Amino acid sequence: MAGLTEEQAEFIKKNKISKSALYDAEGKSKEELQKDMKAEGKTVAYNVEPCEEHGHTMSSRSGYCIQCDPASVSSVKKSAVMGLVYIAGSLKGQIITVGFTKSKTIKEEALNRNNTGGYGDWEILFSTQSMDASEIEYFTQNQLQKYSMSQDNEAKELFCCSYSKAKETIEGILEEKDFKVTKISENRAIISYYEFRNLVRKV
Ligand SMILES: [Zn+2]
Repeated sequence: MAGLTEEQAEFIKKNKISKSALYDAEGKSKEELQKDMKAEGKTVAYNVEPCEEHGHTMSSRSGYCIQCDPASVSSVKKSAVMGLVYIAGSLKGQIITVGFTKSKTIKEEALNRNNTGGYGDWEILFSTQSMDASEIEYFTQNQLQKYSMSQDNEAKELFCCSYSKAKETIEGILEEKDFKVTKISENRAIISYYEFRNLVRKV
């Protein structure tokens, strides 16, 4: 891969990022880069402006340094396709989950079939479609971590927070990162039942 440093090539290999996800940003403006990457389904740009912390020159489509934030790698491994970010809630568990799916529709049944978090009464409360869905999921889960049910990785997408808190978080991210979304839908008939307490996890 021309233009990749040895360190970057090593990082790509170690994290099993597909070569087809890479985009050479040499001489491209931020706007050109984002447009091309979306059109071509690329998720990782190299030869970008060096990051402030360590001077790394590889970033996600929205411009964060994937080398400085290894937890972000999973979001760039999901290919840049149209997907849905959703918020679902369980009354039995008094918990909220935020997820991403590539399918055009979300099925509560899938969450319930898998007995996510040990509960089988999940209802989809909110969803929106975006080319940036997997990044939106990543940032949202990241910002909600203080409400996460436990520190263990399996439960890191389950949150002890209200529906409103999760929705505000997504909306904040859309505004801050300027992610474009379509088809916002909200299950207004039931959302008021999902205003659980926001419980900050003790560390
Ligand atoms: Zn960096």
